[in-house]
Amino acid sequence: MARVDLRNESNVPGEWFVDTRCIDCGTCRDIAPELFGETRGGSIVKRQPSPADELDAWLAAQACPTASIGTMSRQPRPGRLYPREVGEGSGVFDLGYCSEDSFGASAWLVVREAGNVLVDSPRFTEALAGPIAELGGIDHIALTHRDDVADAERWAERFGARVWIHADDRVAAPYATDLLTDEQQIQAGFVAVPTPGHTRGSVVFLLDDRWLFTGDSLAWSHERGDLAAFRGACWYSWEVQTESMARLADQHRFSVVLPGHGARVSGDADDLHDRLVRLVEQMGRPAA
Ligand code: SF4
Repeated sequence: MARVDLRNESNVPGEWFVDTRCIDCGTCRDIAPELFGETRGGSIVKRQPSPADELDAWLAAQACPTASIGTMSRQPRPGRLYPREVGEGSGVFDLGYCSEDSFGASAWLVVREAGNVLVDSPRFTEALAGPIAELGGIDHIALTHRDDVADAERWAERFGARVWIHADDRVAAPYATDLLTDEQQIQAGFVAVPTPGHTRGSVVFLLDDRWLFTGDSLAWSHERGDLAAFRGACWYSWEVQTESMARLADQHRFSVVLPGHGARVSGDADDLHDRLVRLVEQMGRPAA
């Protein structure tokens, strides 16, 4: 529950607010950029939601890792918001309930006949475990990199899931059952593609040549209106990450990007390919 007594004074006046426990993960700004903005060291409500976009505010509130988003009148949440299917009938679900341990990274559930796959880890909560059980549980946990492991071990224990992580990031998940080294299929149509750079063991997962789960290697930027990579949050090697993105553009196509941090986007596969090629060119230039 957001703390009224800690309401950030920079919020616009009105019912909705962000409190000062915000860790500035950016998740609310990625989910609802028209409602949430950035101030010194955190997020604020920059426009009060209208009835038409109040659901977006609730989705951001339920995703917030520090429960910093709320209403002055302490309105109750409007029912179960997550898991939330990304496109009707897609079988791909946004899980909300981001974890502070992964700095608010998004996690995703893919419901498949071959066995459900959790990509990265939300906060462990029975509020999410119950609905996930109704969707068939979790057979595999695919970790994009060491930073976004969060509660993966608890999810694996709860559902008896195999856990995949790249060998170079294995220290973050010593309980992993399967270590990735090269490009390989976790299941038919679900491919792990190593993309070192953000961390040495970063991986993206490509589902059905359409859905690309990118961790912190690649995302959409609302500010730029384009694909982006995070030079200021590159922990291993920007040069290596640039090579990884170039290889990804060469060898794969996708039409949806679902990241850990940063905004998600869906579009035309050729357009996203061209944007990735241009991003690689920009990444190769010296830092401004
Ligand atoms: S999601 Fe929560 S912690 Fe993250 S920036 Fe928004 S208010 Fe802050």
